[in-house]
Amino acid sequence: MQNQNILIVGGGIGGLTSGIALCRSGHQVTIIEKDPDWSVYGVGIIQQGNAIRAVKQLGIIDEYLDAGFGFDFVEIFTPTGRKVARIPSPKLVEGYPASVGIGRRALHTVLGQQAQAAGANVRLGVTAEGLVDDGTQVTVRLSHGGSERFDIVIGADGLYSRTRQQTFPDAPKPAFTGQAVWRYNFSKPHELDCLQAYEGAVGAGLVPLSSDLMYMFVTTPEPENPRYPVEGLAATMRGKLVGMPAAISKLATQITDDSAVVYKPLETLFLSGDWHKGRTVLLGDAVHATTPHLGQGAGMAIEDSLVLADEIDRANTPDEAFVAYRARRHARCKFIVETSLSLCLGQIGTGPVVEQAAATKAMFEVIAQSI
Ligand SMILES: Cc1cc2nc3c(=O)[nH]c(=O)nc-3n(C[C@H](O)[C@H](O)[C@H](O)COP(=O)(O)OP(=O)(O)OC[C@H]3O[C@@H](n4cnc5c(N)ncnc54)[C@H](O)[C@@H]3O)c2cc1C
Repeated sequence: MQNQNILIVGGGIGGLTSGIALCRSGHQVTIIEKDPDWSVYGVGIIQQGNAIRAVKQLGIIDEYLDAGFGFDFVEIFTPTGRKVARIPSPKLVEGYPASVGIGRRALHTVLGQQAQAAGANVRLGVTAEGLVDDGTQVTVRLSHGGSERFDIVIGADGLYSRTRQQTFPDAPKPAFTGQAVWRYNFSKPHELDCLQAYEGAVGAGLVPLSSDLMYMFVTTPEPENPRYPVEGLAATMRGKLVGMPAAISKLATQITDDSAVVYKPLETLFLSGDWHKGRTVLLGDAVHATTPHLGQGAGMAIEDSLVLADEIDRANTPDEAFVAYRARRHARCKFIVETSLSLCLGQIGTGPVVEQAAATKAMFEVIAQSI
């Protein structure tokens, strides 16, 4: 299919990378983003070789690497803080780092600029109130008034996707896992040159984001899924670090700004049935939201974008494209969601313990395969 008029709902990682890929294929792309400020919270993510390969295929590798911090190793520490391994991570693109730590805001800036430069029309503070598919096009009722018709609608609106609810009202809802993550940014010490992971019932990690910035993540069991008020969040996070190895607990005194603590209860979701209905299709967290134990959620969303754009180009009908897209993505995304969840449940004692090193090795084998 050539020259399609495509609406993407959601201007996050999946929506923007889809926008770039589809504009490059010559389609007309509109992205609607409900947040009028297009804001992104201020910590970062880890991306592995498959995300780097996908970003290269998107044609934005230089801008992406300039915005992040490339590294080739993971250091593993015991719960008492003893370093037990410095493991090389597999490189999937020769001449580029094996992994990248990148600030969410920095990534968002790169993707937003590149999507608009590629020709995507980004409209902020807008959402889709209604979708009516008449078999030839989708009429979309927009929240700021009026309706527009599109050949294809892509729901890239994240874990709480309204597009998913509109298209598949009976789809499963996001499920809370019993674990949560606390994150905070710090100045990066010069010697931190890769991801450092601390094992334990309360796990932690330090992730470089640039030459002078890093973030800490701390995973804690939160079986009752408490709602922590923003006021006092820094003190609450400091409390979670008591008893952690010195490299982690010594940073606690710097956690002072309640509004800079990013607390997130971990939820998961996977649609095992169809990923499309008529001319509307889902991608990223809207259809497969993983916990972060393998650092793969955003990587999966970026890969989805490339595969979906490829299948739209190859197919004669939306149905043909969307069936082929799901066939290429389903097993890989299911593996990531299920393996990440088993790590999560093992850590909090609500499932069998899964060895992180073995799960990570299996993950690297899966993600090395071409998309
Ligand atoms: C604690 C935590 C840590 C993580 N760490 C990593 C990591 O290290 N590495 C990694 O690869 N992944 C990580 N992830 C996963 C990653 O953040 C997600 O997989 C990724 O953001 C999914 O991208 P997306 O575009 O599908 O959704 P989102 O990034 O959630 O984007 C959705 C966008 O849609 C917008 N939107 C929502 N509803 C509407 C609507 N109705 N109309 C219009 N717009 C709407 C939102 O405002 C948002 O901009 C982590 C996730 C969590 C929770």
